[in-house]
Amino acid sequence: MPIIVKKFGGTSVGNVDLIRGIARRLAKEYHRGNQLVLVVSAMAKTTDNLFSLAYEITQHPSRREMDMLLTAGERISMSLLSLSLLEEGIPSISFTGSQSGIITDNHHGNAKILKVNAFRIHEELAKDKIVIVAGFQGVSTAKEITTLGRGGSDTSAVALACYLGADKCEIYTDVDGVYTADPRIVPKAGFIREIGYADMLALAYNGSKVLHPRAVEFACKYQVPVEVKSSFTFADGTMIRAEESPKEVLMEDRVVRAIAHKDNLICYRILPDQKALELLNVWHHEIFKISKMEATLELYVEAKYESEIDYLLSQHGVEPISKETEIGFVILVGLGLAADPAFVASVMQLCKDLSLKRIAHSERSLELMMPARQVAEAVAMLHDSLIGVNQ
Ligand code: ADP
Ligand code: ASP
Ligand code: MG
Repeated sequence: MPIIVKKFGGTSVGNVDLIRGIARRLAKEYHRGNQLVLVVSAMAKTTDNLFSLAYEITQHPSRREMDMLLTAGERISMSLLSLSLLEEGIPSISFTGSQSGIITDNHHGNAKILKVNAFRIHEELAKDKIVIVAGFQGVSTAKEITTLGRGGSDTSAVALACYLGADKCEIYTDVDGVYTADPRIVPKAGFIREIGYADMLALAYNGSKVLHPRAVEFACKYQVPVEVKSSFTFADGTMIRAEESPKEVLMEDRVVRAIAHKDNLICYRILPDQKALELLNVWHHEIFKISKMEATLELYVEAKYESEIDYLLSQHGVEPISKETEIGFVILVGLGLAADPAFVASVMQLCKDLSLKRIAHSERSLELMMPARQVAEAVAMLHDSLIGVNQ
């Protein structure tokens, strides 16, 4: 019998009515004969609220205790979904990350999954139960509870799909699928029916919140097909799978597939000395970008982490050379964009009224750095000029 892993994000399980609605739909699917493993995020805003509670007590909370606290959010949603399924007459059982056998390294707050010992999940599936797993969490090799980084439930889901040999991993969220830009910023953004792992990876790493980048990495590495779809309609969404054939890729050469963005970043510029290396070894926040320019190491991080990073730097005796705030990035994603100087020139021409600070490229992206306040306008304008209204 095929195993399907389905992940429900925070907004999708934001209240009891939504949870009940999901349980009703899943009950129908259960009767169609699929083996279902569900991964849930904490109910909308729960994780943020738990953070705030900790910060009422201290500005520098212990990473271990934060993981104990934050993992509580997913326990609430997993048990409520299980109760709802039981009410529908469907046998179900919920597990924390550690009960599910998700083994991680010891990096509190941003742990990496090392392996999944999913025998309890297999045992319960064999009893015809729906198994619900708390996303975003695991247990370290030192037997401590860990979290996988903000947005990490996507990664829990895809990792479970890999280890369970699932046929598919479905990510249910508050949009219908992946669009050519964040539909909240570009309402005219086009819906993408299919996208290759590499383009999705470029989008996710460059700030498209719709999928956690490490989830796409897992999917690509183990070739798990992933579908991003709406938890409100359950309609067909965006399929993420292996690349298009080489012929199609050539035909799509130098086409902007989608646009990602990131605003409100801070850049710490530090000396790339021994102290900096020691600092990076214990770093536990996501870093949006690292680059080394001659005698300077640049670390771009989200502004919300500022006070924690200031503290970390001071603990390691690292005095920043400079700290720049309110930085934004707009990233055009598509194959071979930067290989065409005329294309780069046309982008620069389009951005002539913006304060472009830097242009950089990789194989699948062209990255434009600008003040954070110009990002939304730049995404809309570039989308209009380079992608258009619809696919
Ligand atoms: P969940 O809580 O379900 O994990 P997220 O908030 O993490 O949901 O991700 C969904 C959000 O991603 C959407 O509400 C949308 O604003 C944002 N998003 C950013 N870029 C894109 C994109 N290219 N396509 C679709 N959604 C996007
Ligand atoms: N609840 C966690 C967060 O808010 C994990 C997730 O939603 O994926 O970041
Ligand atoms: Mg998410």
